[in-house]
Amino acid sequence: MTSATQPEKMPSAEAGRIPLVSRAAGQPTTIVAVGEVRFGAEKVVVIGGPCAVENPDQIRTIAQEVAAAGGSMLRGGAWKPRTNPYAFQGLGRQGLEMLAAARQASGLPFVTEVLDPRDVAVAAEVADMLQIGSRNVQNFPLLREVGASGKPVLLKRGMMTTIDEWLNAAEYILAAGSRDVVFCERGIRTFETALRNTLDLGAIAVLRERTHLPIVVDPSHAAGSRKYVPTLARAAVAAGADGLLIETHNNPDLALSDGEQSLTPAEFAELTTSCRAIARAVGRDL
Ligand code: PEP
Ligand code: MN
Repeated sequence: MTSATQPEKMPSAEAGRIPLVSRAAGQPTTIVAVGEVRFGAEKVVVIGGPCAVENPDQIRTIAQEVAAAGGSMLRGGAWKPRTNPYAFQGLGRQGLEMLAAARQASGLPFVTEVLDPRDVAVAAEVADMLQIGSRNVQNFPLLREVGASGKPVLLKRGMMTTIDEWLNAAEYILAAGSRDVVFCERGIRTFETALRNTLDLGAIAVLRERTHLPIVVDPSHAAGSRKYVPTLARAAVAAGADGLLIETHNNPDLALSDGEQSLTPAEFAELTTSCRAIARAVGRDL
């Protein structure tokens, strides 16, 4: 019997192969549906929202602003992976409830990160999509747990993860029973320190060839500074991304995490307008 934590026995000939993730010759891009949102279809999906859920008013207000500005999905962390153990760690289950209320008020489905396999079931009951963050891309028990949760998964690239390791991580999720994984490039660590990370747009071209699954780009965690986000977002759409993940906050200066890279709702609206023009130029819409 297969469980979320017990791997299925594989014939040895399968070892090293990633049959579920790989694109077969002529295979079209798989469309991953999250409510009415469709990753991999003609329309580029824009996910907006704060790094962390901070209180009910904050997440509801931002959700409504994101919806009004053309965003089609909400994000917000209830559990936050923080470098420092004394930094704000998120509101946990209460944060999930606030996200559900914001969904109700805005009509937007939401994605939220899970850090702990023990929280996957409770998150899956409420969330529309589960996020695996960069720091957990090779947390194999967690990958199996989300793969068995029945929810679509947004799989961030690790800051030190090769494309091959990232593809294998997605295979873990599919091998646990899921059919719905969306890759999210968010920048990798290089020698360059002028930006928080180096956005690897080449990864879009490689993934497009190697996998049938959709690809989203998160320019916020790559840039680390809001002034660079629109440029990276436009480049991602031009390179064929199926979606964007943009950290957005109604008061970035007071944000409890990642305020420096968060756009205001007005900046978010400008970004969607400029990215729409690029999307149309490359045969998509937004
Ligand atoms: C986030 O999305 O807020 C986050 C923590 O991202 P990453 O895992 O890419 O650092
Ligand atoms: Mn963040």
